[in-house]
Amino acid sequence: MTNDLVEFIEARLAEDESLASIISAGAYAPQVWRVKPDQPGGWREIRAFDGGILVGPSQAADAGELVAVVPGSREQHVHITRHDPARVVREVAAKRRRLERHKPDYASGRVEYGQHHEVYRREDGKTIEVLVQDDEPRPPNWCRTCAEPAPCRELRNDASVWSDHPDYPEWAV
Ligand SMILES: [Zn+2]
Repeated sequence: MTNDLVEFIEARLAEDESLASIISAGAYAPQVWRVKPDQPGGWREIRAFDGGILVGPSQAADAGELVAVVPGSREQHVHITRHDPARVVREVAAKRRRLERHKPDYASGRVEYGQHHEVYRREDGKTIEVLVQDDEPRPPNWCRTCAEPAPCRELRNDASVWSDHPDYPEWAV
């Protein structure tokens, strides 16, 4: 269960990153989106620029590649450009850093093994029960950052971004 949530978040981050990168033409360079100002009829053009190139609204008039034309009355252009691919890529990087801090670990910081009982029959016919360390380590079940059982509330919270995904584990709420 614990690792399922980590895998779920990693898979969704990879998807978000992939979607943000495939829309850029040619080499990987997340686009920055800007609104072309003052369109007649209330329409707004959203135009894409290569990441790293800062283009102010006045310079954006006829430059860049057309992404979308949307009605300006509902401010959708503001929302769309705020969530441009370059920002998505930054968000993915930030969420990955958070995930590393909250990945399930061992409370002690070292690999931990469980124990089980084994029963042996001695030569005199009596049986003895011995406590033996498991061969395989037990799954990490602790968040050392939050000092609480894993998956911690921060990990569950981060996963909730994708609560509409079919693989979202209901128990994570
Ligand atoms: Zn945590």
